[in-house]
Amino acid sequence: MDGSGKCLCGAVRFNAQQIDSHIHACHCSMCRKWNGGPAMAASVGSVSFEGDENIVRYPSSDWAERGFCKQCGSNLFYFLKPDRYIMWAGAFDEQPFSLDGEIFCSEKPAWYDFAGDHPRHSEMPDS
Ligand SMILES: [Zn+2]
Ligand SMILES: [Zn+2]
Repeated sequence: MDGSGKCLCGAVRFNAQQIDSHIHACHCSMCRKWNGGPAMAASVGSVSFEGDENIVRYPSSDWAERGFCKQCGSNLFYFLKPDRYIMWAGAFDEQPFSLDGEIFCSEKPAWYDFAGDHPRHSEMPDS
């Protein structure tokens, strides 16, 4: 499945191919800090951007960057070096997703829970 998306202000737009519609929510403390809450994102096979000059890439670890729009602050992606993009679900124009799992439940605060009958992993499952 292909799909397009954009940040809140529209300065960054993207087209993604081979979108995995099976979303995993991440409750890790880094995602929650960055996101203001749990992260829900879709792995894609490839993605091309318009408005590249408006993307800030924050090096959140030795192996990954987190990208956001410098005009409006919208979170856009987690980039796993060297070439894997995981795009924030909310940035997509269409929402054909399903919540198929949760990761880092060991770091989830007690005050919220997601409904649904899907796997809840305490950390990152082996894939
Ligand atoms: Zn923007
Ligand atoms: Zn996380």
